[in-house]
Amino acid sequence: MTHLRPTAPLTPSFPSRLPAVGTTIFTVMSTLAAEHQAINLGQGFPDFQCDTALIDAVNQAMVSGHNQYPPMPGALELRKTIASKIDRLYGKSYDPATEITITAGATQAIFTVIMSCVSPGDEVIVIEPAFDCYLPAITLAGGKAISVSLDVQRNSEGIVEAYGIPWIALVKAITPKTRLLLINSPHNPTGMVWQRSDLDRLADLLSNTHVLVCSDEVYEHMVFDGQQHHSASSHPALAARSFVVSSFGKTFHVTGWKIGYVAAPASLTAEFRKVHQFNVFSVNAPMQVGIAHYLSDPAHYLGLSAFYQRKRDFFRAGLAETQFKLLPAPGSYFQCVDYSALGIPQSNLSEAEFCRWLTCEIGVAAIPVSAFYGAGTDSKVIRFCFAKEEKTLETALARLRTV
Ligand code: GLN
Repeated sequence: MTHLRPTAPLTPSFPSRLPAVGTTIFTVMSTLAAEHQAINLGQGFPDFQCDTALIDAVNQAMVSGHNQYPPMPGALELRKTIASKIDRLYGKSYDPATEITITAGATQAIFTVIMSCVSPGDEVIVIEPAFDCYLPAITLAGGKAISVSLDVQRNSEGIVEAYGIPWIALVKAITPKTRLLLINSPHNPTGMVWQRSDLDRLADLLSNTHVLVCSDEVYEHMVFDGQQHHSASSHPALAARSFVVSSFGKTFHVTGWKIGYVAAPASLTAEFRKVHQFNVFSVNAPMQVGIAHYLSDPAHYLGLSAFYQRKRDFFRAGLAETQFKLLPAPGSYFQCVDYSALGIPQSNLSEAEFCRWLTCEIGVAAIPVSAFYGAGTDSKVIRFCFAKEEKTLETALARLRTV
């Protein structure tokens, strides 16, 4: 008698849409930090609470019944408050009805920008190091990423002392196939900040082209040493071709709320919303209403640069007593350091290996800057996030001094 062996149900396999992609470095390092009880200076998020007035505003929105679908482009009161904020700060008037859309964070905003304008075969210019969500979104859209690297200036010891926009490479990268250029200021991970003259130069460079711009400005309220944020929206010629992206998670210390927005001319917004409506449809209602209320007071964000500059200065002063070499940190809540002076064997480790070692053996998690390059690099530079309580930074510094 033959026994029929039960066959395991088949899970079909299929060609991966992203064969070269693993789990994002931010999740990898946060998981490793949790496993080793390391202080997590890797993924960028604050370890302190947001203002209770913001929580009260969201709570009030729920209690007063803002619990059903908000309009697809976002709660109108939030879009209006954003429009008046952009007008006040950057002198550009966006129509809340047709030019501002609320998104589930900046990553969704950028993904949807790319999906809405990049067709198969289009070229998209990315300036590396670049945040890790840019390249996979271009791949999924069928676009071709054209990567150029930031210019780097080094001191006599070989340590980076300034980053610059790679103008020559950018000129070469633009072709009739270029659909979109992604820019990011203040820049993650280097903190580099664009100047007004940079916006002028970019506008000139693009003036006879059909290139669109996606300007990732999620750290717009973290610019240090008396400098200013220069938004693409503040430059009329650039604003006319730009999707400007920002995020409340960074500004209000609520990265887990995943709420951001895109401001763009009506014709660009119309295409953006065609995708957005079938991607998330709309973003959770009470938080939008609560944020609208809270955002209407500029005091709730205008002090952020000073707040983070104090943290940056405290962290840098502590790092100066370690063997790490400090890179400039003019904006964002990130500080990059060079570990090449640490000596063998640590200085021989790749950035990814070094971050693993630092997390597991020293108890401080960081992010390898190589994760911000499509093809990988190894410049012995890692990124720390200083959006932490002083006591957290102090404990991390005590550990880093032992290295
Ligand atoms: N922007 C954050 C960072 O650079 C991470 C966001 C995320 O994990 N997706 O650390």
